[in-house]
Amino acid sequence: MKGGLPVRRFFVEEIEAEDGLCTIRGSEAKHMTRVLRMGRGDRFILMDGQGARFRAIIESAGRREVLVTLEKPLPQPPPSPVEITLCQALLKSRAMDYVIEKTSELGVHRILPFSSERTVVRLNKERFANKKQHWREIAHSAAKQSDRKVPVEIGPLSSFEELVGRTRAEDALKIILWEEEMATDLMGVLRGSPPVKRILGIVGPEGGFSEKEVRAAGEAGFVSVSLGQRVLRAETAAITMVAIVQYEWGDLTFSDPTKPASGSASSP
Ligand code: SAM
Repeated sequence: MKGGLPVRRFFVEEIEAEDGLCTIRGSEAKHMTRVLRMGRGDRFILMDGQGARFRAIIESAGRREVLVTLEKPLPQPPPSPVEITLCQALLKSRAMDYVIEKTSELGVHRILPFSSERTVVRLNKERFANKKQHWREIAHSAAKQSDRKVPVEIGPLSSFEELVGRTRAEDALKIILWEEEMATDLMGVLRGSPPVKRILGIVGPEGGFSEKEVRAAGEAGFVSVSLGQRVLRAETAAITMVAIVQYEWGDLTFSDPTKPASGSASSP
């Protein structure tokens, strides 16, 4: 229980209420009644995909729909000071699901999936559409779990060249995680410059990047960075990158990352 609020959260596309009453249908209603056995008098948080959230109480629960009263609107969780975009090479399914779930919990803003030279998984339009629907379900439950304002945005599938082309002009700090990078590391890049509002990070497939790809990213303004000497699985690298950026410049802290840490040399 956080701040005395019920911890169960449910999403609906749009919160349509009349006289404070709202009907929940579909998979969320089934989850409430058949899985969680919720019923009259139970309280929870109702959220739509745009950031609106209410404390609600169940008036009646049927097999297909749940009638609830919206008791009061709730404040939105503040956004992280840094908007993180993870550009993730397609990974084998369990690893990809894991990346979507864990980076969602860590507050990643957007995930752009891409295929590259050494990508093992190949998805045609139809298979990608099914995959995206599956990832969306993971993103929804991760948003409920972690009390995010809105689920992570999952972009269209692109090739590595299209991704680099499309993000070339983006006004953001751009990094590419390369296990063969020997001179520059992520900590050095983050502590060597003042916090920025937007960061894009590219993480490779199981087989890594070719030198040609790392060069092309460099020409588009991406800085190649290392996460240290050990070769991490792609899913570990992605989660580690998001966690480190949120720790240094984001909201894995109560203090404002744009202000020097208290007790640091510069504060009186
Ligand atoms: N090609 C490598 C190999 O098989 O030896 C491994 C690639 S690694 C499993 C997958 C991706 O994770 C890499 O493309 C990179 O983006 C990221 N990665 C893993 N370890 C890293 C490290 N120490 N520094 C930076 N990136 C790393």
